[in-house]
Amino acid sequence: METFGKKILVVDDNLELIDIIRKFLRTQNFEVLIALDGKTAIEKTLSDAPELVLLDLKLPDIPGEEVLKRIKEINKDIAIIVVTGFGGEQVAVEMMRKGATDFLSKPIEKEVLLKSIQNTLEIRNAQIEDRRFGQHPSLEKFFPFLAHEIRNPLHAISGALTIIQRRSDLKDEILAQSIKIINEEVHHLNEFVQECLNFVRPPNFVRFIEVDIHEVFSVVMNMISHMFESESKKIRVVMDVDPQLPKIYANYEEIKQAFLNIVKNAYEAMPEGGEFTIKTLRKPDSPKTIEIAFMDDGMGLKRGNLDKLFDPFFTTKLRGTGLGLAICRRIIVERHHGKIFIESEENQGMKVKVELPIGRRLGD
Ligand code: ADP
Ligand code: MG
Repeated sequence: METFGKKILVVDDNLELIDIIRKFLRTQNFEVLIALDGKTAIEKTLSDAPELVLLDLKLPDIPGEEVLKRIKEINKDIAIIVVTGFGGEQVAVEMMRKGATDFLSKPIEKEVLLKSIQNTLEIRNAQIEDRRFGQHPSLEKFFPFLAHEIRNPLHAISGALTIIQRRSDLKDEILAQSIKIINEEVHHLNEFVQECLNFVRPPNFVRFIEVDIHEVFSVVMNMISHMFESESKKIRVVMDVDPQLPKIYANYEEIKQAFLNIVKNAYEAMPEGGEFTIKTLRKPDSPKTIEIAFMDDGMGLKRGNLDKLFDPFFTTKLRGTGLGLAICRRIIVERHHGKIFIESEENQGMKVKVELPIGRRLGD
């Protein structure tokens, strides 16, 4: 993620610590502002509009909690990481409920600080993007709202869970299992929210670049092997690719998303294992187009369901969103002027064929 030149306001009254943090953050190309007390912190938030505030909760004048509240009132897009002294975890969790994105306990390690800043800025960017929309009027308003309402408590749950985990005896199997379940459910909800947002996110032509499709496959398959650890052992992957395949002009992130959705479906259709093939070729009768086929030999599709596949919310899965293929269609057809075809019979697997133009179009 691009963090170059992002403004960070460090609020603390410990000059020695400030000096260390300032020097370190500057080496990481952040612009660093300093406030030694709460009043100055609020003033600088108003005058300098930092992207992120690193806020010590113990300040000489105003309580940190009050400063947090004021900063959020000034601009709710300013991300806040709260810093507490030893044993301040409980307060920190409370602060996350009030809008802080993360917390750090003193003494602060540089790597931990950097990681937290990067995560926090990423979450902030996602939240800002969540609010920028245009097409599907009702869903486009509703999904970002939903995302916001779900994501914030989820962060708080994750934060609290980390503490429980740290302080618990994980040899207690029932406890360990329960923590695992909470983690998985939080993860599932995060994915659900992400999928809803992917569905309404507007096209971003700025990010059109030359993309090597085969490179996208390796990234996608790598992600899949993490998502489907146990199934992966039972699925044989065949890559039948044309080594001469030209690069295409595309939005890398979107194409990755579309392929990921297709491969995810294929893996979900083969819980007992099977064979999954990706085939690429330059379309013989139309050299300006590449063709990609994704084939699985999983459960296939019931007759009659074929024409509902691309409808948003159509799902036959217990916990599906029914948005995966709707997103694919949007990315491939609407944003990349490609085509997508599906062939399937019940218990005979599925073939998803995607055609994408190689070149740039006017207006892209
Ligand atoms: P979801 O995966 O959340 O159900 P999708 O839009 O990705 O939503 O898929 C919609 C439906 O299409 C799935 O619920 C499933 O019934 C069907 N489907 C998609 N891909 C496959 C596949 N490879 N094999 C069998 N059915 C599939
Ligand atoms: Mg899906």
